[in-house]
Amino acid sequence: MTLKKIYPLFINGEFVDSSNGAFFDTYNPATGEVLAQVAKGTKEDVDKAVAAARQAFKQGPWSKMTGAKRARLLNEIARIMRNRLDEITELEVLNSGKTVPTAKGQIIQAIEDFEFYASATVTLAGQTVPMPNGFFTYTLKEPLGVCGQIIPWNYPFMMAAWKIAPALAAGCTVILKPASNTPITALLLAEICQEAGVPAGVVNVVSGSGAEIGPYISDHPGIDKIAFTGETATGKDIMARAAHTIKRVTLELGGKSANIVFDDADIDAAVDGSLHGIYYNTGQSCEARSRLFVHEKIYDAFMGKFLDKVSRIQVGDPFDSSVHVGAIVSKAQEQVIDQYVRIAEEEGAEVLYGGRRPEGPGFENGYWYMPTVIANVTNNMRVAQEEIFGPVVVVMKFREEEDVIKQANDSMYGLAGAVWTRDHARAYRVSSAIRAGIVMVNSPISAFPGVAFGGYKQSGFGRELALETLNLYTETKSVVSYVGKRPLNLLGVK
Ligand code: NAD
Ligand code: MN
Repeated sequence: MTLKKIYPLFINGEFVDSSNGAFFDTYNPATGEVLAQVAKGTKEDVDKAVAAARQAFKQGPWSKMTGAKRARLLNEIARIMRNRLDEITELEVLNSGKTVPTAKGQIIQAIEDFEFYASATVTLAGQTVPMPNGFFTYTLKEPLGVCGQIIPWNYPFMMAAWKIAPALAAGCTVILKPASNTPITALLLAEICQEAGVPAGVVNVVSGSGAEIGPYISDHPGIDKIAFTGETATGKDIMARAAHTIKRVTLELGGKSANIVFDDADIDAAVDGSLHGIYYNTGQSCEARSRLFVHEKIYDAFMGKFLDKVSRIQVGDPFDSSVHVGAIVSKAQEQVIDQYVRIAEEEGAEVLYGGRRPEGPGFENGYWYMPTVIANVTNNMRVAQEEIFGPVVVVMKFREEEDVIKQANDSMYGLAGAVWTRDHARAYRVSSAIRAGIVMVNSPISAFPGVAFGGYKQSGFGRELALETLNLYTETKSVVSYVGKRPLNLLGVK
């Protein structure tokens, strides 16, 4: 067991206590027990981290390093992560309540993200620009600067990788704030970066309360960009604050993604994909396909098979290999989920399965919720419009393609969507019509290194995980030189 009792902050290449010595408890969601004490960063700690990141950015070598050398360091981070895969997985399971295969898959992706950006960093190059006679112009891709990166609790390690890997690949320096529910593995990532040889000050991790230091990070004049993943409401606050210093902002926010099953779909594939689409990661997924639209012709057949499989989902101890779905991250989140189920009932919807905490041995402590299926829903109900962020799917029946597209798009969110059909032309039409950043066709998954991930509408803007993400961590500088023989006197003053 590699769990430590105390997790300090990581600032300027050192593990340090917070400026006032304060700690907070972090929990194991599956038992409700305290796992460890984590340093509670203060505004002063943010100032220290910003100063370290600014200094590291200014003096180099990180920001001025060649791509090849940076690539070697990013690959070294990935190599160490791979060596420590089981240890990181165990800590992630302990701190988040997700099952071992779920955690392991996300950590493997985090490793591949670093490998992807190790390769991508050497593609960063400017251009020469065709110009009128006498001019020679080129562009430079320069690292943006000091980046504040604020992440949520649902994918603690993978979100840290999604943020840190492209920032480092671009030559930026970073202050990362993990979610207060799940700070441990992000602090481990800082340690790994240091072990790999990333210079002091390039990666800083300041754990602490989002309400206390989050706005301070968004306001901070020493920070050039905020990359945020979390709730839409938090994203709005960040964007408003960032306006005062014209910080660059990228936001990966909430979702209420539509999962559309047509009557010509492979029903078994659609059942399994829809199950994964909502219950993966205990439903605590931004791209959860939480609105399930099923064509009326196959509704009964589909729902029969779907409910049968839902009833066979094992919820429980995330270290038990027969378990499919782990714990909920916190008591507060468990209560939010339950409140939404009660709202659904008040709105006239019908709970077909679940709708409560599981009972019996293993569920005396910790935070849990049963996989839940809610039918008789209409798209204007709160449970169809608001993100529940738990293992709760709302099911709606449809008849016409045009109508289901309209309903799918009738949402303030636009993160993801899924289409199940054997008709290629329909798959193309519907994918094109869905106003979302990621559309899955007959696929239960979408997040791979290299595939742009991000939202339309109030699901945010900016894309992660892809080559284009590097543009969001760089500035383009155009250098226009006049190289003609005759001096230019454009004002014509003699
Ligand atoms: P959250 O917005 O509550 O918190 C996210 C982070 O912001 C945490 O580190 C928190 O401490 C910090 N924070 C809180 N208040 C802040 C403030 N005023 N200013 C700055 N930072 C502040 O989100 P959460 O509950 O941790 O995560 C769940 C949400 O994340 C869901 O809405 C989910 O859809 C979203 N999410 C989106 C994606 C995506 O890629 N689009 C991925 C994962 C999660
Ligand atoms: Mn929250």
